[in-house]
Amino acid sequence: MAAQVHGFQTEVSKLLRLLAKSLYSNSDVFLRELVSNASDAIDKLRFLSITKPELVKDDPVFSIRVRADREAGMLTITDNGIGMTESEANEHLGTIAKSGTEAFLANLSGDEAKDSQLIGQFGVGFYSAFIVADRVTVISRSANAPENEAVRWESTGEGTYTSELTTRAGRGTDVILHLKPEASKYLEDWELEEIIRTYSDHIATPVSLWKETTPAKTDEKDENVVEPAHYEWVQVNDAKALWTMNPREVKDEDYKAFYKHLTHEYADPLCWAHNRVEGEMEYTSLLYCPATAPWNLYDGREGHGLKLYVQRVFILDKAEAFLPHYLRFIRGLIDTNDLPLNVSRELLQESTVTHKLKKAVTKRALGMLEKLAADNDKYAAFWSEFGKCLKEGVVEDPANREAVMKLLRFASTKDAETEARSATVSLADYVARAPKEQTKIYYLVAGSYEAALSSPYLETFRKKGIEVLLLWERIDEWMMSGMPEFEGKAFVSVTASDLELGELAKDDAEAQKKVEEAAGDSVERLKKALGDKVEGVRVSSRLVESASCVIGQNDQMLTPQMRRMLEAAGR
Ligand code: ADP
Ligand code: MG
Repeated sequence: MAAQVHGFQTEVSKLLRLLAKSLYSNSDVFLRELVSNASDAIDKLRFLSITKPELVKDDPVFSIRVRADREAGMLTITDNGIGMTESEANEHLGTIAKSGTEAFLANLSGDEAKDSQLIGQFGVGFYSAFIVADRVTVISRSANAPENEAVRWESTGEGTYTSELTTRAGRGTDVILHLKPEASKYLEDWELEEIIRTYSDHIATPVSLWKETTPAKTDEKDENVVEPAHYEWVQVNDAKALWTMNPREVKDEDYKAFYKHLTHEYADPLCWAHNRVEGEMEYTSLLYCPATAPWNLYDGREGHGLKLYVQRVFILDKAEAFLPHYLRFIRGLIDTNDLPLNVSRELLQESTVTHKLKKAVTKRALGMLEKLAADNDKYAAFWSEFGKCLKEGVVEDPANREAVMKLLRFASTKDAETEARSATVSLADYVARAPKEQTKIYYLVAGSYEAALSSPYLETFRKKGIEVLLLWERIDEWMMSGMPEFEGKAFVSVTASDLELGELAKDDAEAQKKVEEAAGDSVERLKKALGDKVEGVRVSSRLVESASCVIGQNDQMLTPQMRRMLEAAGR
């Protein structure tokens, strides 16, 4: 039967044109993506074989093989993983199921380095083959399919692909790249070895390269006789699961490389924490904080979470159950002996082991961030990317509220002149430099940084030299509602009507008396004029430069920010 011709999904065609055109200068990524697919396919089968050992019986040693054929200009990546049936190949290689693709296309910046980072994040890995190949052939046989139900899939990456049944001796997949003339460097073993070492060193499956090796020289040989080239399979990666190593034996470079393998990112992580815990609970966690926020951080539909391994066997990607939602930006993995190998997403949610692990891992993550906070520059970078997430944590995670609050940073009236709008003040800083008699922490929530700075509510505080924390993000009012106090000092909005400055205001009683006398009957007149629009009119010594301002009735009343939010929501 002749091969059937299929059209790619529209998005795929668009993607292919973009990839081939815009990412050539980062063409190495194709190999990382294909090796990582081979490794994923093996992980999937390794997992299945726990309950169905017969699937791997005739070919029990997992391996990934990379072989260049210089004469033919072909590069082949072979694995003995789970493989694909014809319909699976058509589905997985012809369409992009993930909603992320559109976002990928929308996120392209035109900056090649940046755009190539997006490839892995959006799961368009396989198509990166077309950066270097003008024709790609995939021969695959599913671990569940007989010999004559393998598939031959092929495409030149121009709108269509073909597929047909074929035979393949064992399970697994060959991805055969017919390299473009300008990509011939990928036929050199040293080039391939370098890329595999850089990107795939920590893949838990051995990656072997068909490599020219020099046979040992013997003295009798004539210098002029050309020895025939000798090739053999040589393993080029470490194939050690990095997280199972002793943290003291792992170099920073290895942690960074592993992060890139894990996340498909190019940039280094900001920090990481690797812990091996034995005893009542047994687990290893390796957590990373990325340098930049992913595009979908605030997209509720996208899954986040850690990779889950049980006894070193890969079980689940993006297992959300081990971290609270607000720490969804943390990447990494957890490997435990305390969960069964057949654990499912549903079971995870209910398991008490999971709950215990979540508690422990959350502490590790917060501890890692606390350490990061010792480095002002790095922490400032962190805060501008992920600060909003931590603000969610104040309300979401009462059990760790203290720890989360310590990680918050604020803009304040104290640093407004020098470091406008940068949030660098911690609550501990604020408390430490407040005068002894100050028992409260004062803050102001406004619609924007500028509005906060020019607010009339700040006048008294400026005059008295009292620091006020400035907030203007959407989430701030909500966050403040979840923070009753810090180190025994209550939070007080400077817009509250019953604002009491206590000891700080002992000179004010006199002043209040004076302004009341000076105001005479103007209060009564204003009350009449404003009628129902206000609860009351009071004379105050709070304002220094402005003539009047609107204040909340008491703590239960809406602050100006909340009022604005409700107005915006049409209430
Ligand atoms: P992702 O790896 O993020 O899912 P890719 O574009 O890299 O996206 O791969 C698409 C899909 O094609 C994979 O999810 C998998 O189902 C299938 N696939 C790709 N390569 C292989 C392989 N070597 N063996 C089995 N399936 C594969
Ligand atoms: Mg992939």
